[in-house]
Formats: sequence, structure tokens, C-alpha cells
Amino acid sequence: MKKILFFQFLFFASAVGQLTPLQKCNYTKITSHDELSQFLEVADHNSDLVTKEVIAESVEGRKLYAVYLSKDGFGKDETKLKILIFAQQHGNEHSGKEGALLLINEMLRSENQYLLDKIDLAIVPQMNPDGSEKNQRRNGNAMDLNRNHLILTEPETAGLHKLFNKYLFDVTLDVHEYFPYGETWKIYGYRTDNEVEIGTVTNINISQNITELSREYLNFIIDYLKDKEISCFEYLPGGPPEVNYIRRSTFDINDGRQSLGIQNSFSFIQEGKNGIDSLDNIKRRSETQMAGMMGLLVYSYRHKDEIKNLIADQREKLVKGEISPNISIQLDHFSDGSKLELPLLSYYSDSDTIITVADYRPVVKSLYDVERPIGYLVPKVLNEVIDWAGKHSLVYYDFKNSNEYKIEQYHIIRIDSMDFEGDIVVNPITELKEITNQLSENDYIFIPANQLKNNMIVIALEPKSELGLVTYRNYANLLKEGENYSILRVVKNLK
Ligand SMILES: [Zn+2]
Repeated sequence: MKKILFFQFLFFASAVGQLTPLQKCNYTKITSHDELSQFLEVADHNSDLVTKEVIAESVEGRKLYAVYLSKDGFGKDETKLKILIFAQQHGNEHSGKEGALLLINEMLRSENQYLLDKIDLAIVPQMNPDGSEKNQRRNGNAMDLNRNHLILTEPETAGLHKLFNKYLFDVTLDVHEYFPYGETWKIYGYRTDNEVEIGTVTNINISQNITELSREYLNFIIDYLKDKEISCFEYLPGGPPEVNYIRRSTFDINDGRQSLGIQNSFSFIQEGKNGIDSLDNIKRRSETQMAGMMGLLVYSYRHKDEIKNLIADQREKLVKGEISPNISIQLDHFSDGSKLELPLLSYYSDSDTIITVADYRPVVKSLYDVERPIGYLVPKVLNEVIDWAGKHSLVYYDFKNSNEYKIEQYHIIRIDSMDFEGDIVVNPITELKEITNQLSENDYIFIPANQLKNNMIVIALEPKSELGLVTYRNYANLLKEGENYSILRVVKNLK
């Protein structure tokens, strides 16, 4: 009898892989970085479908892993959909990591392996090991990694973008947890209770076709999870209702979803419902996160050609510059007149209810556009900007001026400020002038706009951009009142 049970256990273990560290300890302890490393080591060793790789080292020297799941060598079959799922950028949001480890096991089950006929999957289960060990949001440099995807000063985010740039994933998912137990909501008497929330891309410079397909995915995943008795809704920050407006997730391109979305990826954020503390309800939290990730894989498998073709077409448009001649660099959230039926949990009755929200602003509109230039000239002395271009794998080269070009420079008249989703950012008053005297070509590098990061480059380098480099402390010195902005625009000479 004993023998048979042991045999059955072995069969079980080899069929679905090992238990995750969290399962092994019966959900009594969050998975540590050491345990995660060991788990991935064994997963890699046990299965031909799994390969692990170190993609970066954290500030405190811990390894960040990518786990590749592929039937014929990751990225080798160009017809497959390349999907990237990454979790736990915020160290106090553990269920993304725990769910990602469950997902590795799920993918090894024979009934799920069909997904790998059309998908090459990369999983980065833990983006912020230093924060995780201390159960804190930020990384070892006290930086919020999910506000670092534009400037890429942190090794963790730089490593992720290096990975993205290597494979140019079609589909990406950034996994988080939201914390619904805040004081303002307690006073309001209700709180959000959805087990999984999904945010789509909202920056209006991203391909409209991709944005529309993202909305379709949102409908799919809500139904998919409902079938599994998991509650799911759109991720809508703000509130409580009529205290603060409710909107779709940020249009800033410095987070995990939008920084990849702005490169015309099919990109999402998934927010599980956090516990009151890290272990609270951790089994269910991890399983619902895993189910959400699995939902994305199922949808992607079913719509493989549609997604693959759409992403290829829309990326080609960025590279060839076959996009709008104008680009929005200041945006805001607006109402479209519709009211939101928001599912909430009542603190009084402990039951689910629907609240109708009047101040709901689901539409993002441009406040300020600029004309897209042919490219930018960055002075070679601006080392920090040239390093930045390198971290994003931007194409750049020496500049050769021609009479087809006109060179423009901004003069910073005054530095005002503006509201940005409740924060205050710089808003310089500028004047654009043509440079008519001879330009010393050797003093500059030229970053052409027509490349995959087309939108990102313009949004980053325009001085009036609400989302640009100048809004970060590291680059604030690029703006000086009464002086010229040293990064130049190259535009077509129409004379
Ligand atoms: Zn988070």
C-alpha cells in the first residue's frame, strides 16, 4: 500500500512538476528569493520545456530570473506569439510571484501544453527581490520600479527592458496587487472587492486598433474568470465615488504596461486583491492571479494570428513613420457623459453592491500636441541622455546635415507647472526657433524618430512633455529659465 502511494506521488510530481515553496509549507510562509531560485533550478532541470536565465542583478545583488517555456527553443519559431509575464515589481505584492510559480507548474500539465504549440512564454516571477525580502514596495535604492520604466535608472527595470528588446514580445502582462483597505474608503463605507482587476493601455498615442482589441480582451477575461467563480473587473484608480473622480489607469509611459504598450505591444496590468497582510488569504490570492495569467494565454492562443498580425503591422507603422504627424505630450482624463456601475463591498452589511458613479472619466484626450520631428540631436556632452538611449536600445548615429533639414531649438521663456493625475509637474513656456548658423555636427548624436520607440522618443525628449525626461529629478537640469533647451529638433525643410 505504502509503495503504491509513493509511486503515485512520484507520478504526480513528475507530471505536474514539484510543489511550489508556498504549497510545500502549506501556505504558512511567503516564498523567499532563495526558495524561488531553487524552485526554478529544479523546474529547469526536470523539464525540457523549461529554461531559466539570469536577466539582471538587483541593487543588493540578488538574481532576477526569466523562465522560458517553449517547445522548440524560445523565439526560434517566428510564427509563434511571444508572451512576457512579469510580477512583483512592488515587493509587498507577493501573490503575483506566487501565482507565477503556480503558472510554471500549470503550463507543464499535459492538458495545458497545447498552449505552447502557438506560444513561447517568458515569465519573470520576481522583479523586486530586495523589496520582497523586506516586504516593502520599493527596491534596494528606495525607488518605485513601476515609475522607472522611462528613465531606467534601476538594474531591475533596465534588465526587463533589455529582455523585451531582445525578443520584442507581442503580448505583455505586468502583475501587481491593489490594496483596497484604505482609510478614505472605510469612511466612505464601501471598498473594492474584485479578486482580479485588469488595466488596458490608455495613452492615446498607442495604436487605436490595439487599444480596441485590449477592450475586447477585458470583456473576455471578466467572463473567463467568472466561469471559474473569480470576480474580475476593470482596474479603475481614483475614488471613492464623488469624493475623487474615477478614471482608467494612468497614461504615463513609465510603468510596466504602458512603457511596453507605447511600442505597440498588446500590453496589460493585472491587479490581484492584496491581503490585510502578506499571508492573509495567500492561497486564494495566488490561485486567482495564476488564473488571470492563464486567461491571457488562452485568449492569446485563440487569437494568435489576429494579435501577431496586428502587432507586426502597428510596429511597422512606427518604424516607417506611417502614423499621425502629431503626437500628444500633455493629456488628461475626461468624462464621456456615461455613468459607471461600480461593484463594491459594503462595510456595513458585508455584502456586494453596485454604486452608480457620476464623476467617471474614462476618456483620455490630448491637451497639447507637437509635430513629430524627423529626429533629435543630442549633444554628446549630455552623457546621461546618451546612456539613457543605450538602455532603451535606441537606434542613433552620427549626424550629417543637409539642406533637406531644418534644425529647431526651444527657448525656455518661463517654467510653469501643471497638474498631472494629482501630482504637479513642470510645464515650460517655450518658443521654437530655427537655428540658422552653422551647426557643429560632430558635437551631436542623431536619434531618428522612425524606429520602434518612435512615440517614446518624442514623449521623452520634448521639453513640454508632461511625461518627459525633464519631469524627473535626474534630468531637471535640462530645463533652465531664460536659456535654450540643448536637445534639438530636426524637421523637414519646406523652403
Ligand atoms: Zn503594484
